[in-house]
Amino acid sequence: MEPETQDINNNDNVLQLPKMDESLDRLIVELKEHKRQGELLINEPSDEETGVTSTKIGGINFYLPANKKWPENEETGAKLTPVVQINMQDFEDYNQKEKKGIFQLFIDFDYKLKDVVLTKNTIGIELRYLQDIAEKKARKIEISPDEVSAASPSVIKRQKFLSLPSAKSQFDLPQSHLFMKWAWDKQAKDGERIWSKYNYTEGLYIEDELLSRFGGYAPWINKDQTPVCSVCGNRMDFLAAVGTEDTDFNFDEDGYIMIFACNFMSKCGSLNNPSVIIQTY
Ligand SMILES: [Zn+2]
Repeated sequence: MEPETQDINNNDNVLQLPKMDESLDRLIVELKEHKRQGELLINEPSDEETGVTSTKIGGINFYLPANKKWPENEETGAKLTPVVQINMQDFEDYNQKEKKGIFQLFIDFDYKLKDVVLTKNTIGIELRYLQDIAEKKARKIEISPDEVSAASPSVIKRQKFLSLPSAKSQFDLPQSHLFMKWAWDKQAKDGERIWSKYNYTEGLYIEDELLSRFGGYAPWINKDQTPVCSVCGNRMDFLAAVGTEDTDFNFDEDGYIMIFACNFMSKCGSLNNPSVIIQTY
């Protein structure tokens, strides 16, 4: 549905939505109050690795400080697959506590992860926040992409978008909100059901593909599973998601790997204490 879009300009932001059935007009007006800015991180395959401190999804050229080894599965010793590296400087306009440093996620896709909410303590994943980056002292990558089942290198194309709340979440919007009560099953003028027009999902999802993103609302496929902060007990903030559809990670089914952090209080830990949720179709 991509070519047919209507742009709703709002300051510098552009909300790109598919050409909507006119019955949804009223909904759009209401949703504009709840929009959040995010950025799609669109993966474009590349023959070459990007710089060692760049924001990236896939590839193998991840920043390793001199004192840190390539992460391994503590149980099996298998080397983990590099999934995403976020240079926080690239996103300093966002509501993140960390305005610099590098956040990284590595996963052992061959290992059955035992927890639903993945944390620093989960065997088979590694979450790293490296605050002080010394690029010149970075450890040389001495393993091959095959050895860690690395996804192909890619260049990230950043595209700002206004993220809309998820109808899958009872938390993003009040239950009384029109959006939550919307009759998605209603028939449009052309006879098609409203819900089948937008990714066959009850809600307004603006992308056909499961694209990676930073900021905005978590793109739930199933029900809202926002992790609760182990320190303050609040729902954690959505940071970013890796979509599996434009990457070639060793995933059984398409979905999202979603990263959350909490900085409600300084001792919550923010990127030093993140959680990850994986949802697939
Ligand atoms: Zn907290």
